[in-house]
Amino acid sequence: MNEYVERVIAETKAKNPNEPEFHQTVTEVLTSLENVIAAHPEYEQAALLERIVEPERIIQFRVVWVDDSGKTQVNKGYRVQFNGAIGPYKGGLRFHKSVNLSILKFLGFEQVFKNSLTTLPIGGGKGGSDFDPHGKSDAEVMRFCQAFMTELYRHIGINTDVPAGDIGVGGREIGYMFGQYRRIRDAYENGVLTGKGLTYGGSLIRPEATGYGGIYYAQQVFAHENDSIEGKTFVLSGYGNVAWGAAKKIAELGGKAVTLSGHNGYIYDPDGITTEEKLNYLLEMRASRNANIKMYADKFGVEFHEGEKPWGVRGDVYLPCATQNEVGMDEAELIVASGAKYYFELANMPTTNDAIAYMQANGVIIGPAKAANAGGVAVSALEMSQNSMRYGWTAEEVDAKLKTIMKDIHDSSAKAAAEYGLGYDLVKGANIAGFLKVAQAMMAQGLI
Ligand code: GLU
Repeated sequence: MNEYVERVIAETKAKNPNEPEFHQTVTEVLTSLENVIAAHPEYEQAALLERIVEPERIIQFRVVWVDDSGKTQVNKGYRVQFNGAIGPYKGGLRFHKSVNLSILKFLGFEQVFKNSLTTLPIGGGKGGSDFDPHGKSDAEVMRFCQAFMTELYRHIGINTDVPAGDIGVGGREIGYMFGQYRRIRDAYENGVLTGKGLTYGGSLIRPEATGYGGIYYAQQVFAHENDSIEGKTFVLSGYGNVAWGAAKKIAELGGKAVTLSGHNGYIYDPDGITTEEKLNYLLEMRASRNANIKMYADKFGVEFHEGEKPWGVRGDVYLPCATQNEVGMDEAELIVASGAKYYFELANMPTTNDAIAYMQANGVIIGPAKAANAGGVAVSALEMSQNSMRYGWTAEEVDAKLKTIMKDIHDSSAKAAAEYGLGYDLVKGANIAGFLKVAQAMMAQGLI
């Protein structure tokens, strides 16, 4: 391994103990850059890798709110402003009981490269809370969001840092947070958050964007392989807006999604999640207070596999759409055994590094999260553009831009991999293409 890369990986691990997810993504990204680092000795001179793995700023704060029974609750709140070299920090807020600094640093680090790949001027950040939205009432969610924003507002701004949604943060939460931001600032700066409702500055296609973008990216890969989406069976995990958007676009283009999963198991619908009724039911189900994927099986009379993951189901394309590390070696073996040729990461870091290597070694083409799920944040950046123009594009206009962006992401990743002698390795290619733009901007801006 390249000595400089190896040293920075080891130092990062030593300097950030007890952060396994952060270490996982740093290892994945930096090992992809070996040939680039070898070709650019000036990066070592400027300690560029040491700088890029260190967040520019981390904010941690207390969030105090009162639940429906009148009890005071205390949560941790965070914002990791990872890298602002190419634009204001941009990235989602995650509300989930597992949220900690390691997870937010891995997400923030990924976001830097993903956002760079979108071709749009956005830096990388991530934030959130260990607040668990499950089973909470609307009023509790509102009070939590208001308390969270009462601290966060001083750290964000349309030119500083623009948060959005992620797991546990959707349109409802963004609405409550925007309301509180507007009240505190006494200004209509709606470009400060993305994923807003359509009545107050949201962009058409934003809810669908991650799923649609993932499928547009997949289409580029199919075209490269002289293949097409028609008649293909897709195995999906998750049942949130990423899985919903992907299933919708797959159905529209002539394929079918046959599984969805949640914390309690997965459903198998051999006819496919293809009808408007089924797709709309996902939205309805998600809006209910105790949403879980078994509700889909009960409603449509399909199989529910309690406590299991969907990776043993045979498919042509595998699409993890849930959360980090849902596919390790055991699951990768099932996927390879199915004979599938394609695996696209629509969740953030759904795959362990050894599982990626194993699938690639067995001929599976991997579309990494930084590329395949970049459609969401890309349309967020388009939402920022529309807010600053005070003008909104039509759904067709946003969709056309999203398609172009996903094609650019695929093409620049493929080109970067080829240029550095790595063939059609879209994982390393995405890391290289994403890195180079940020690296050049950091070099140009001097030692900061
Ligand atoms: N949380 C999403 C992501 O992982 C979207 C971020 C955004 O729209 O800013 O990219």
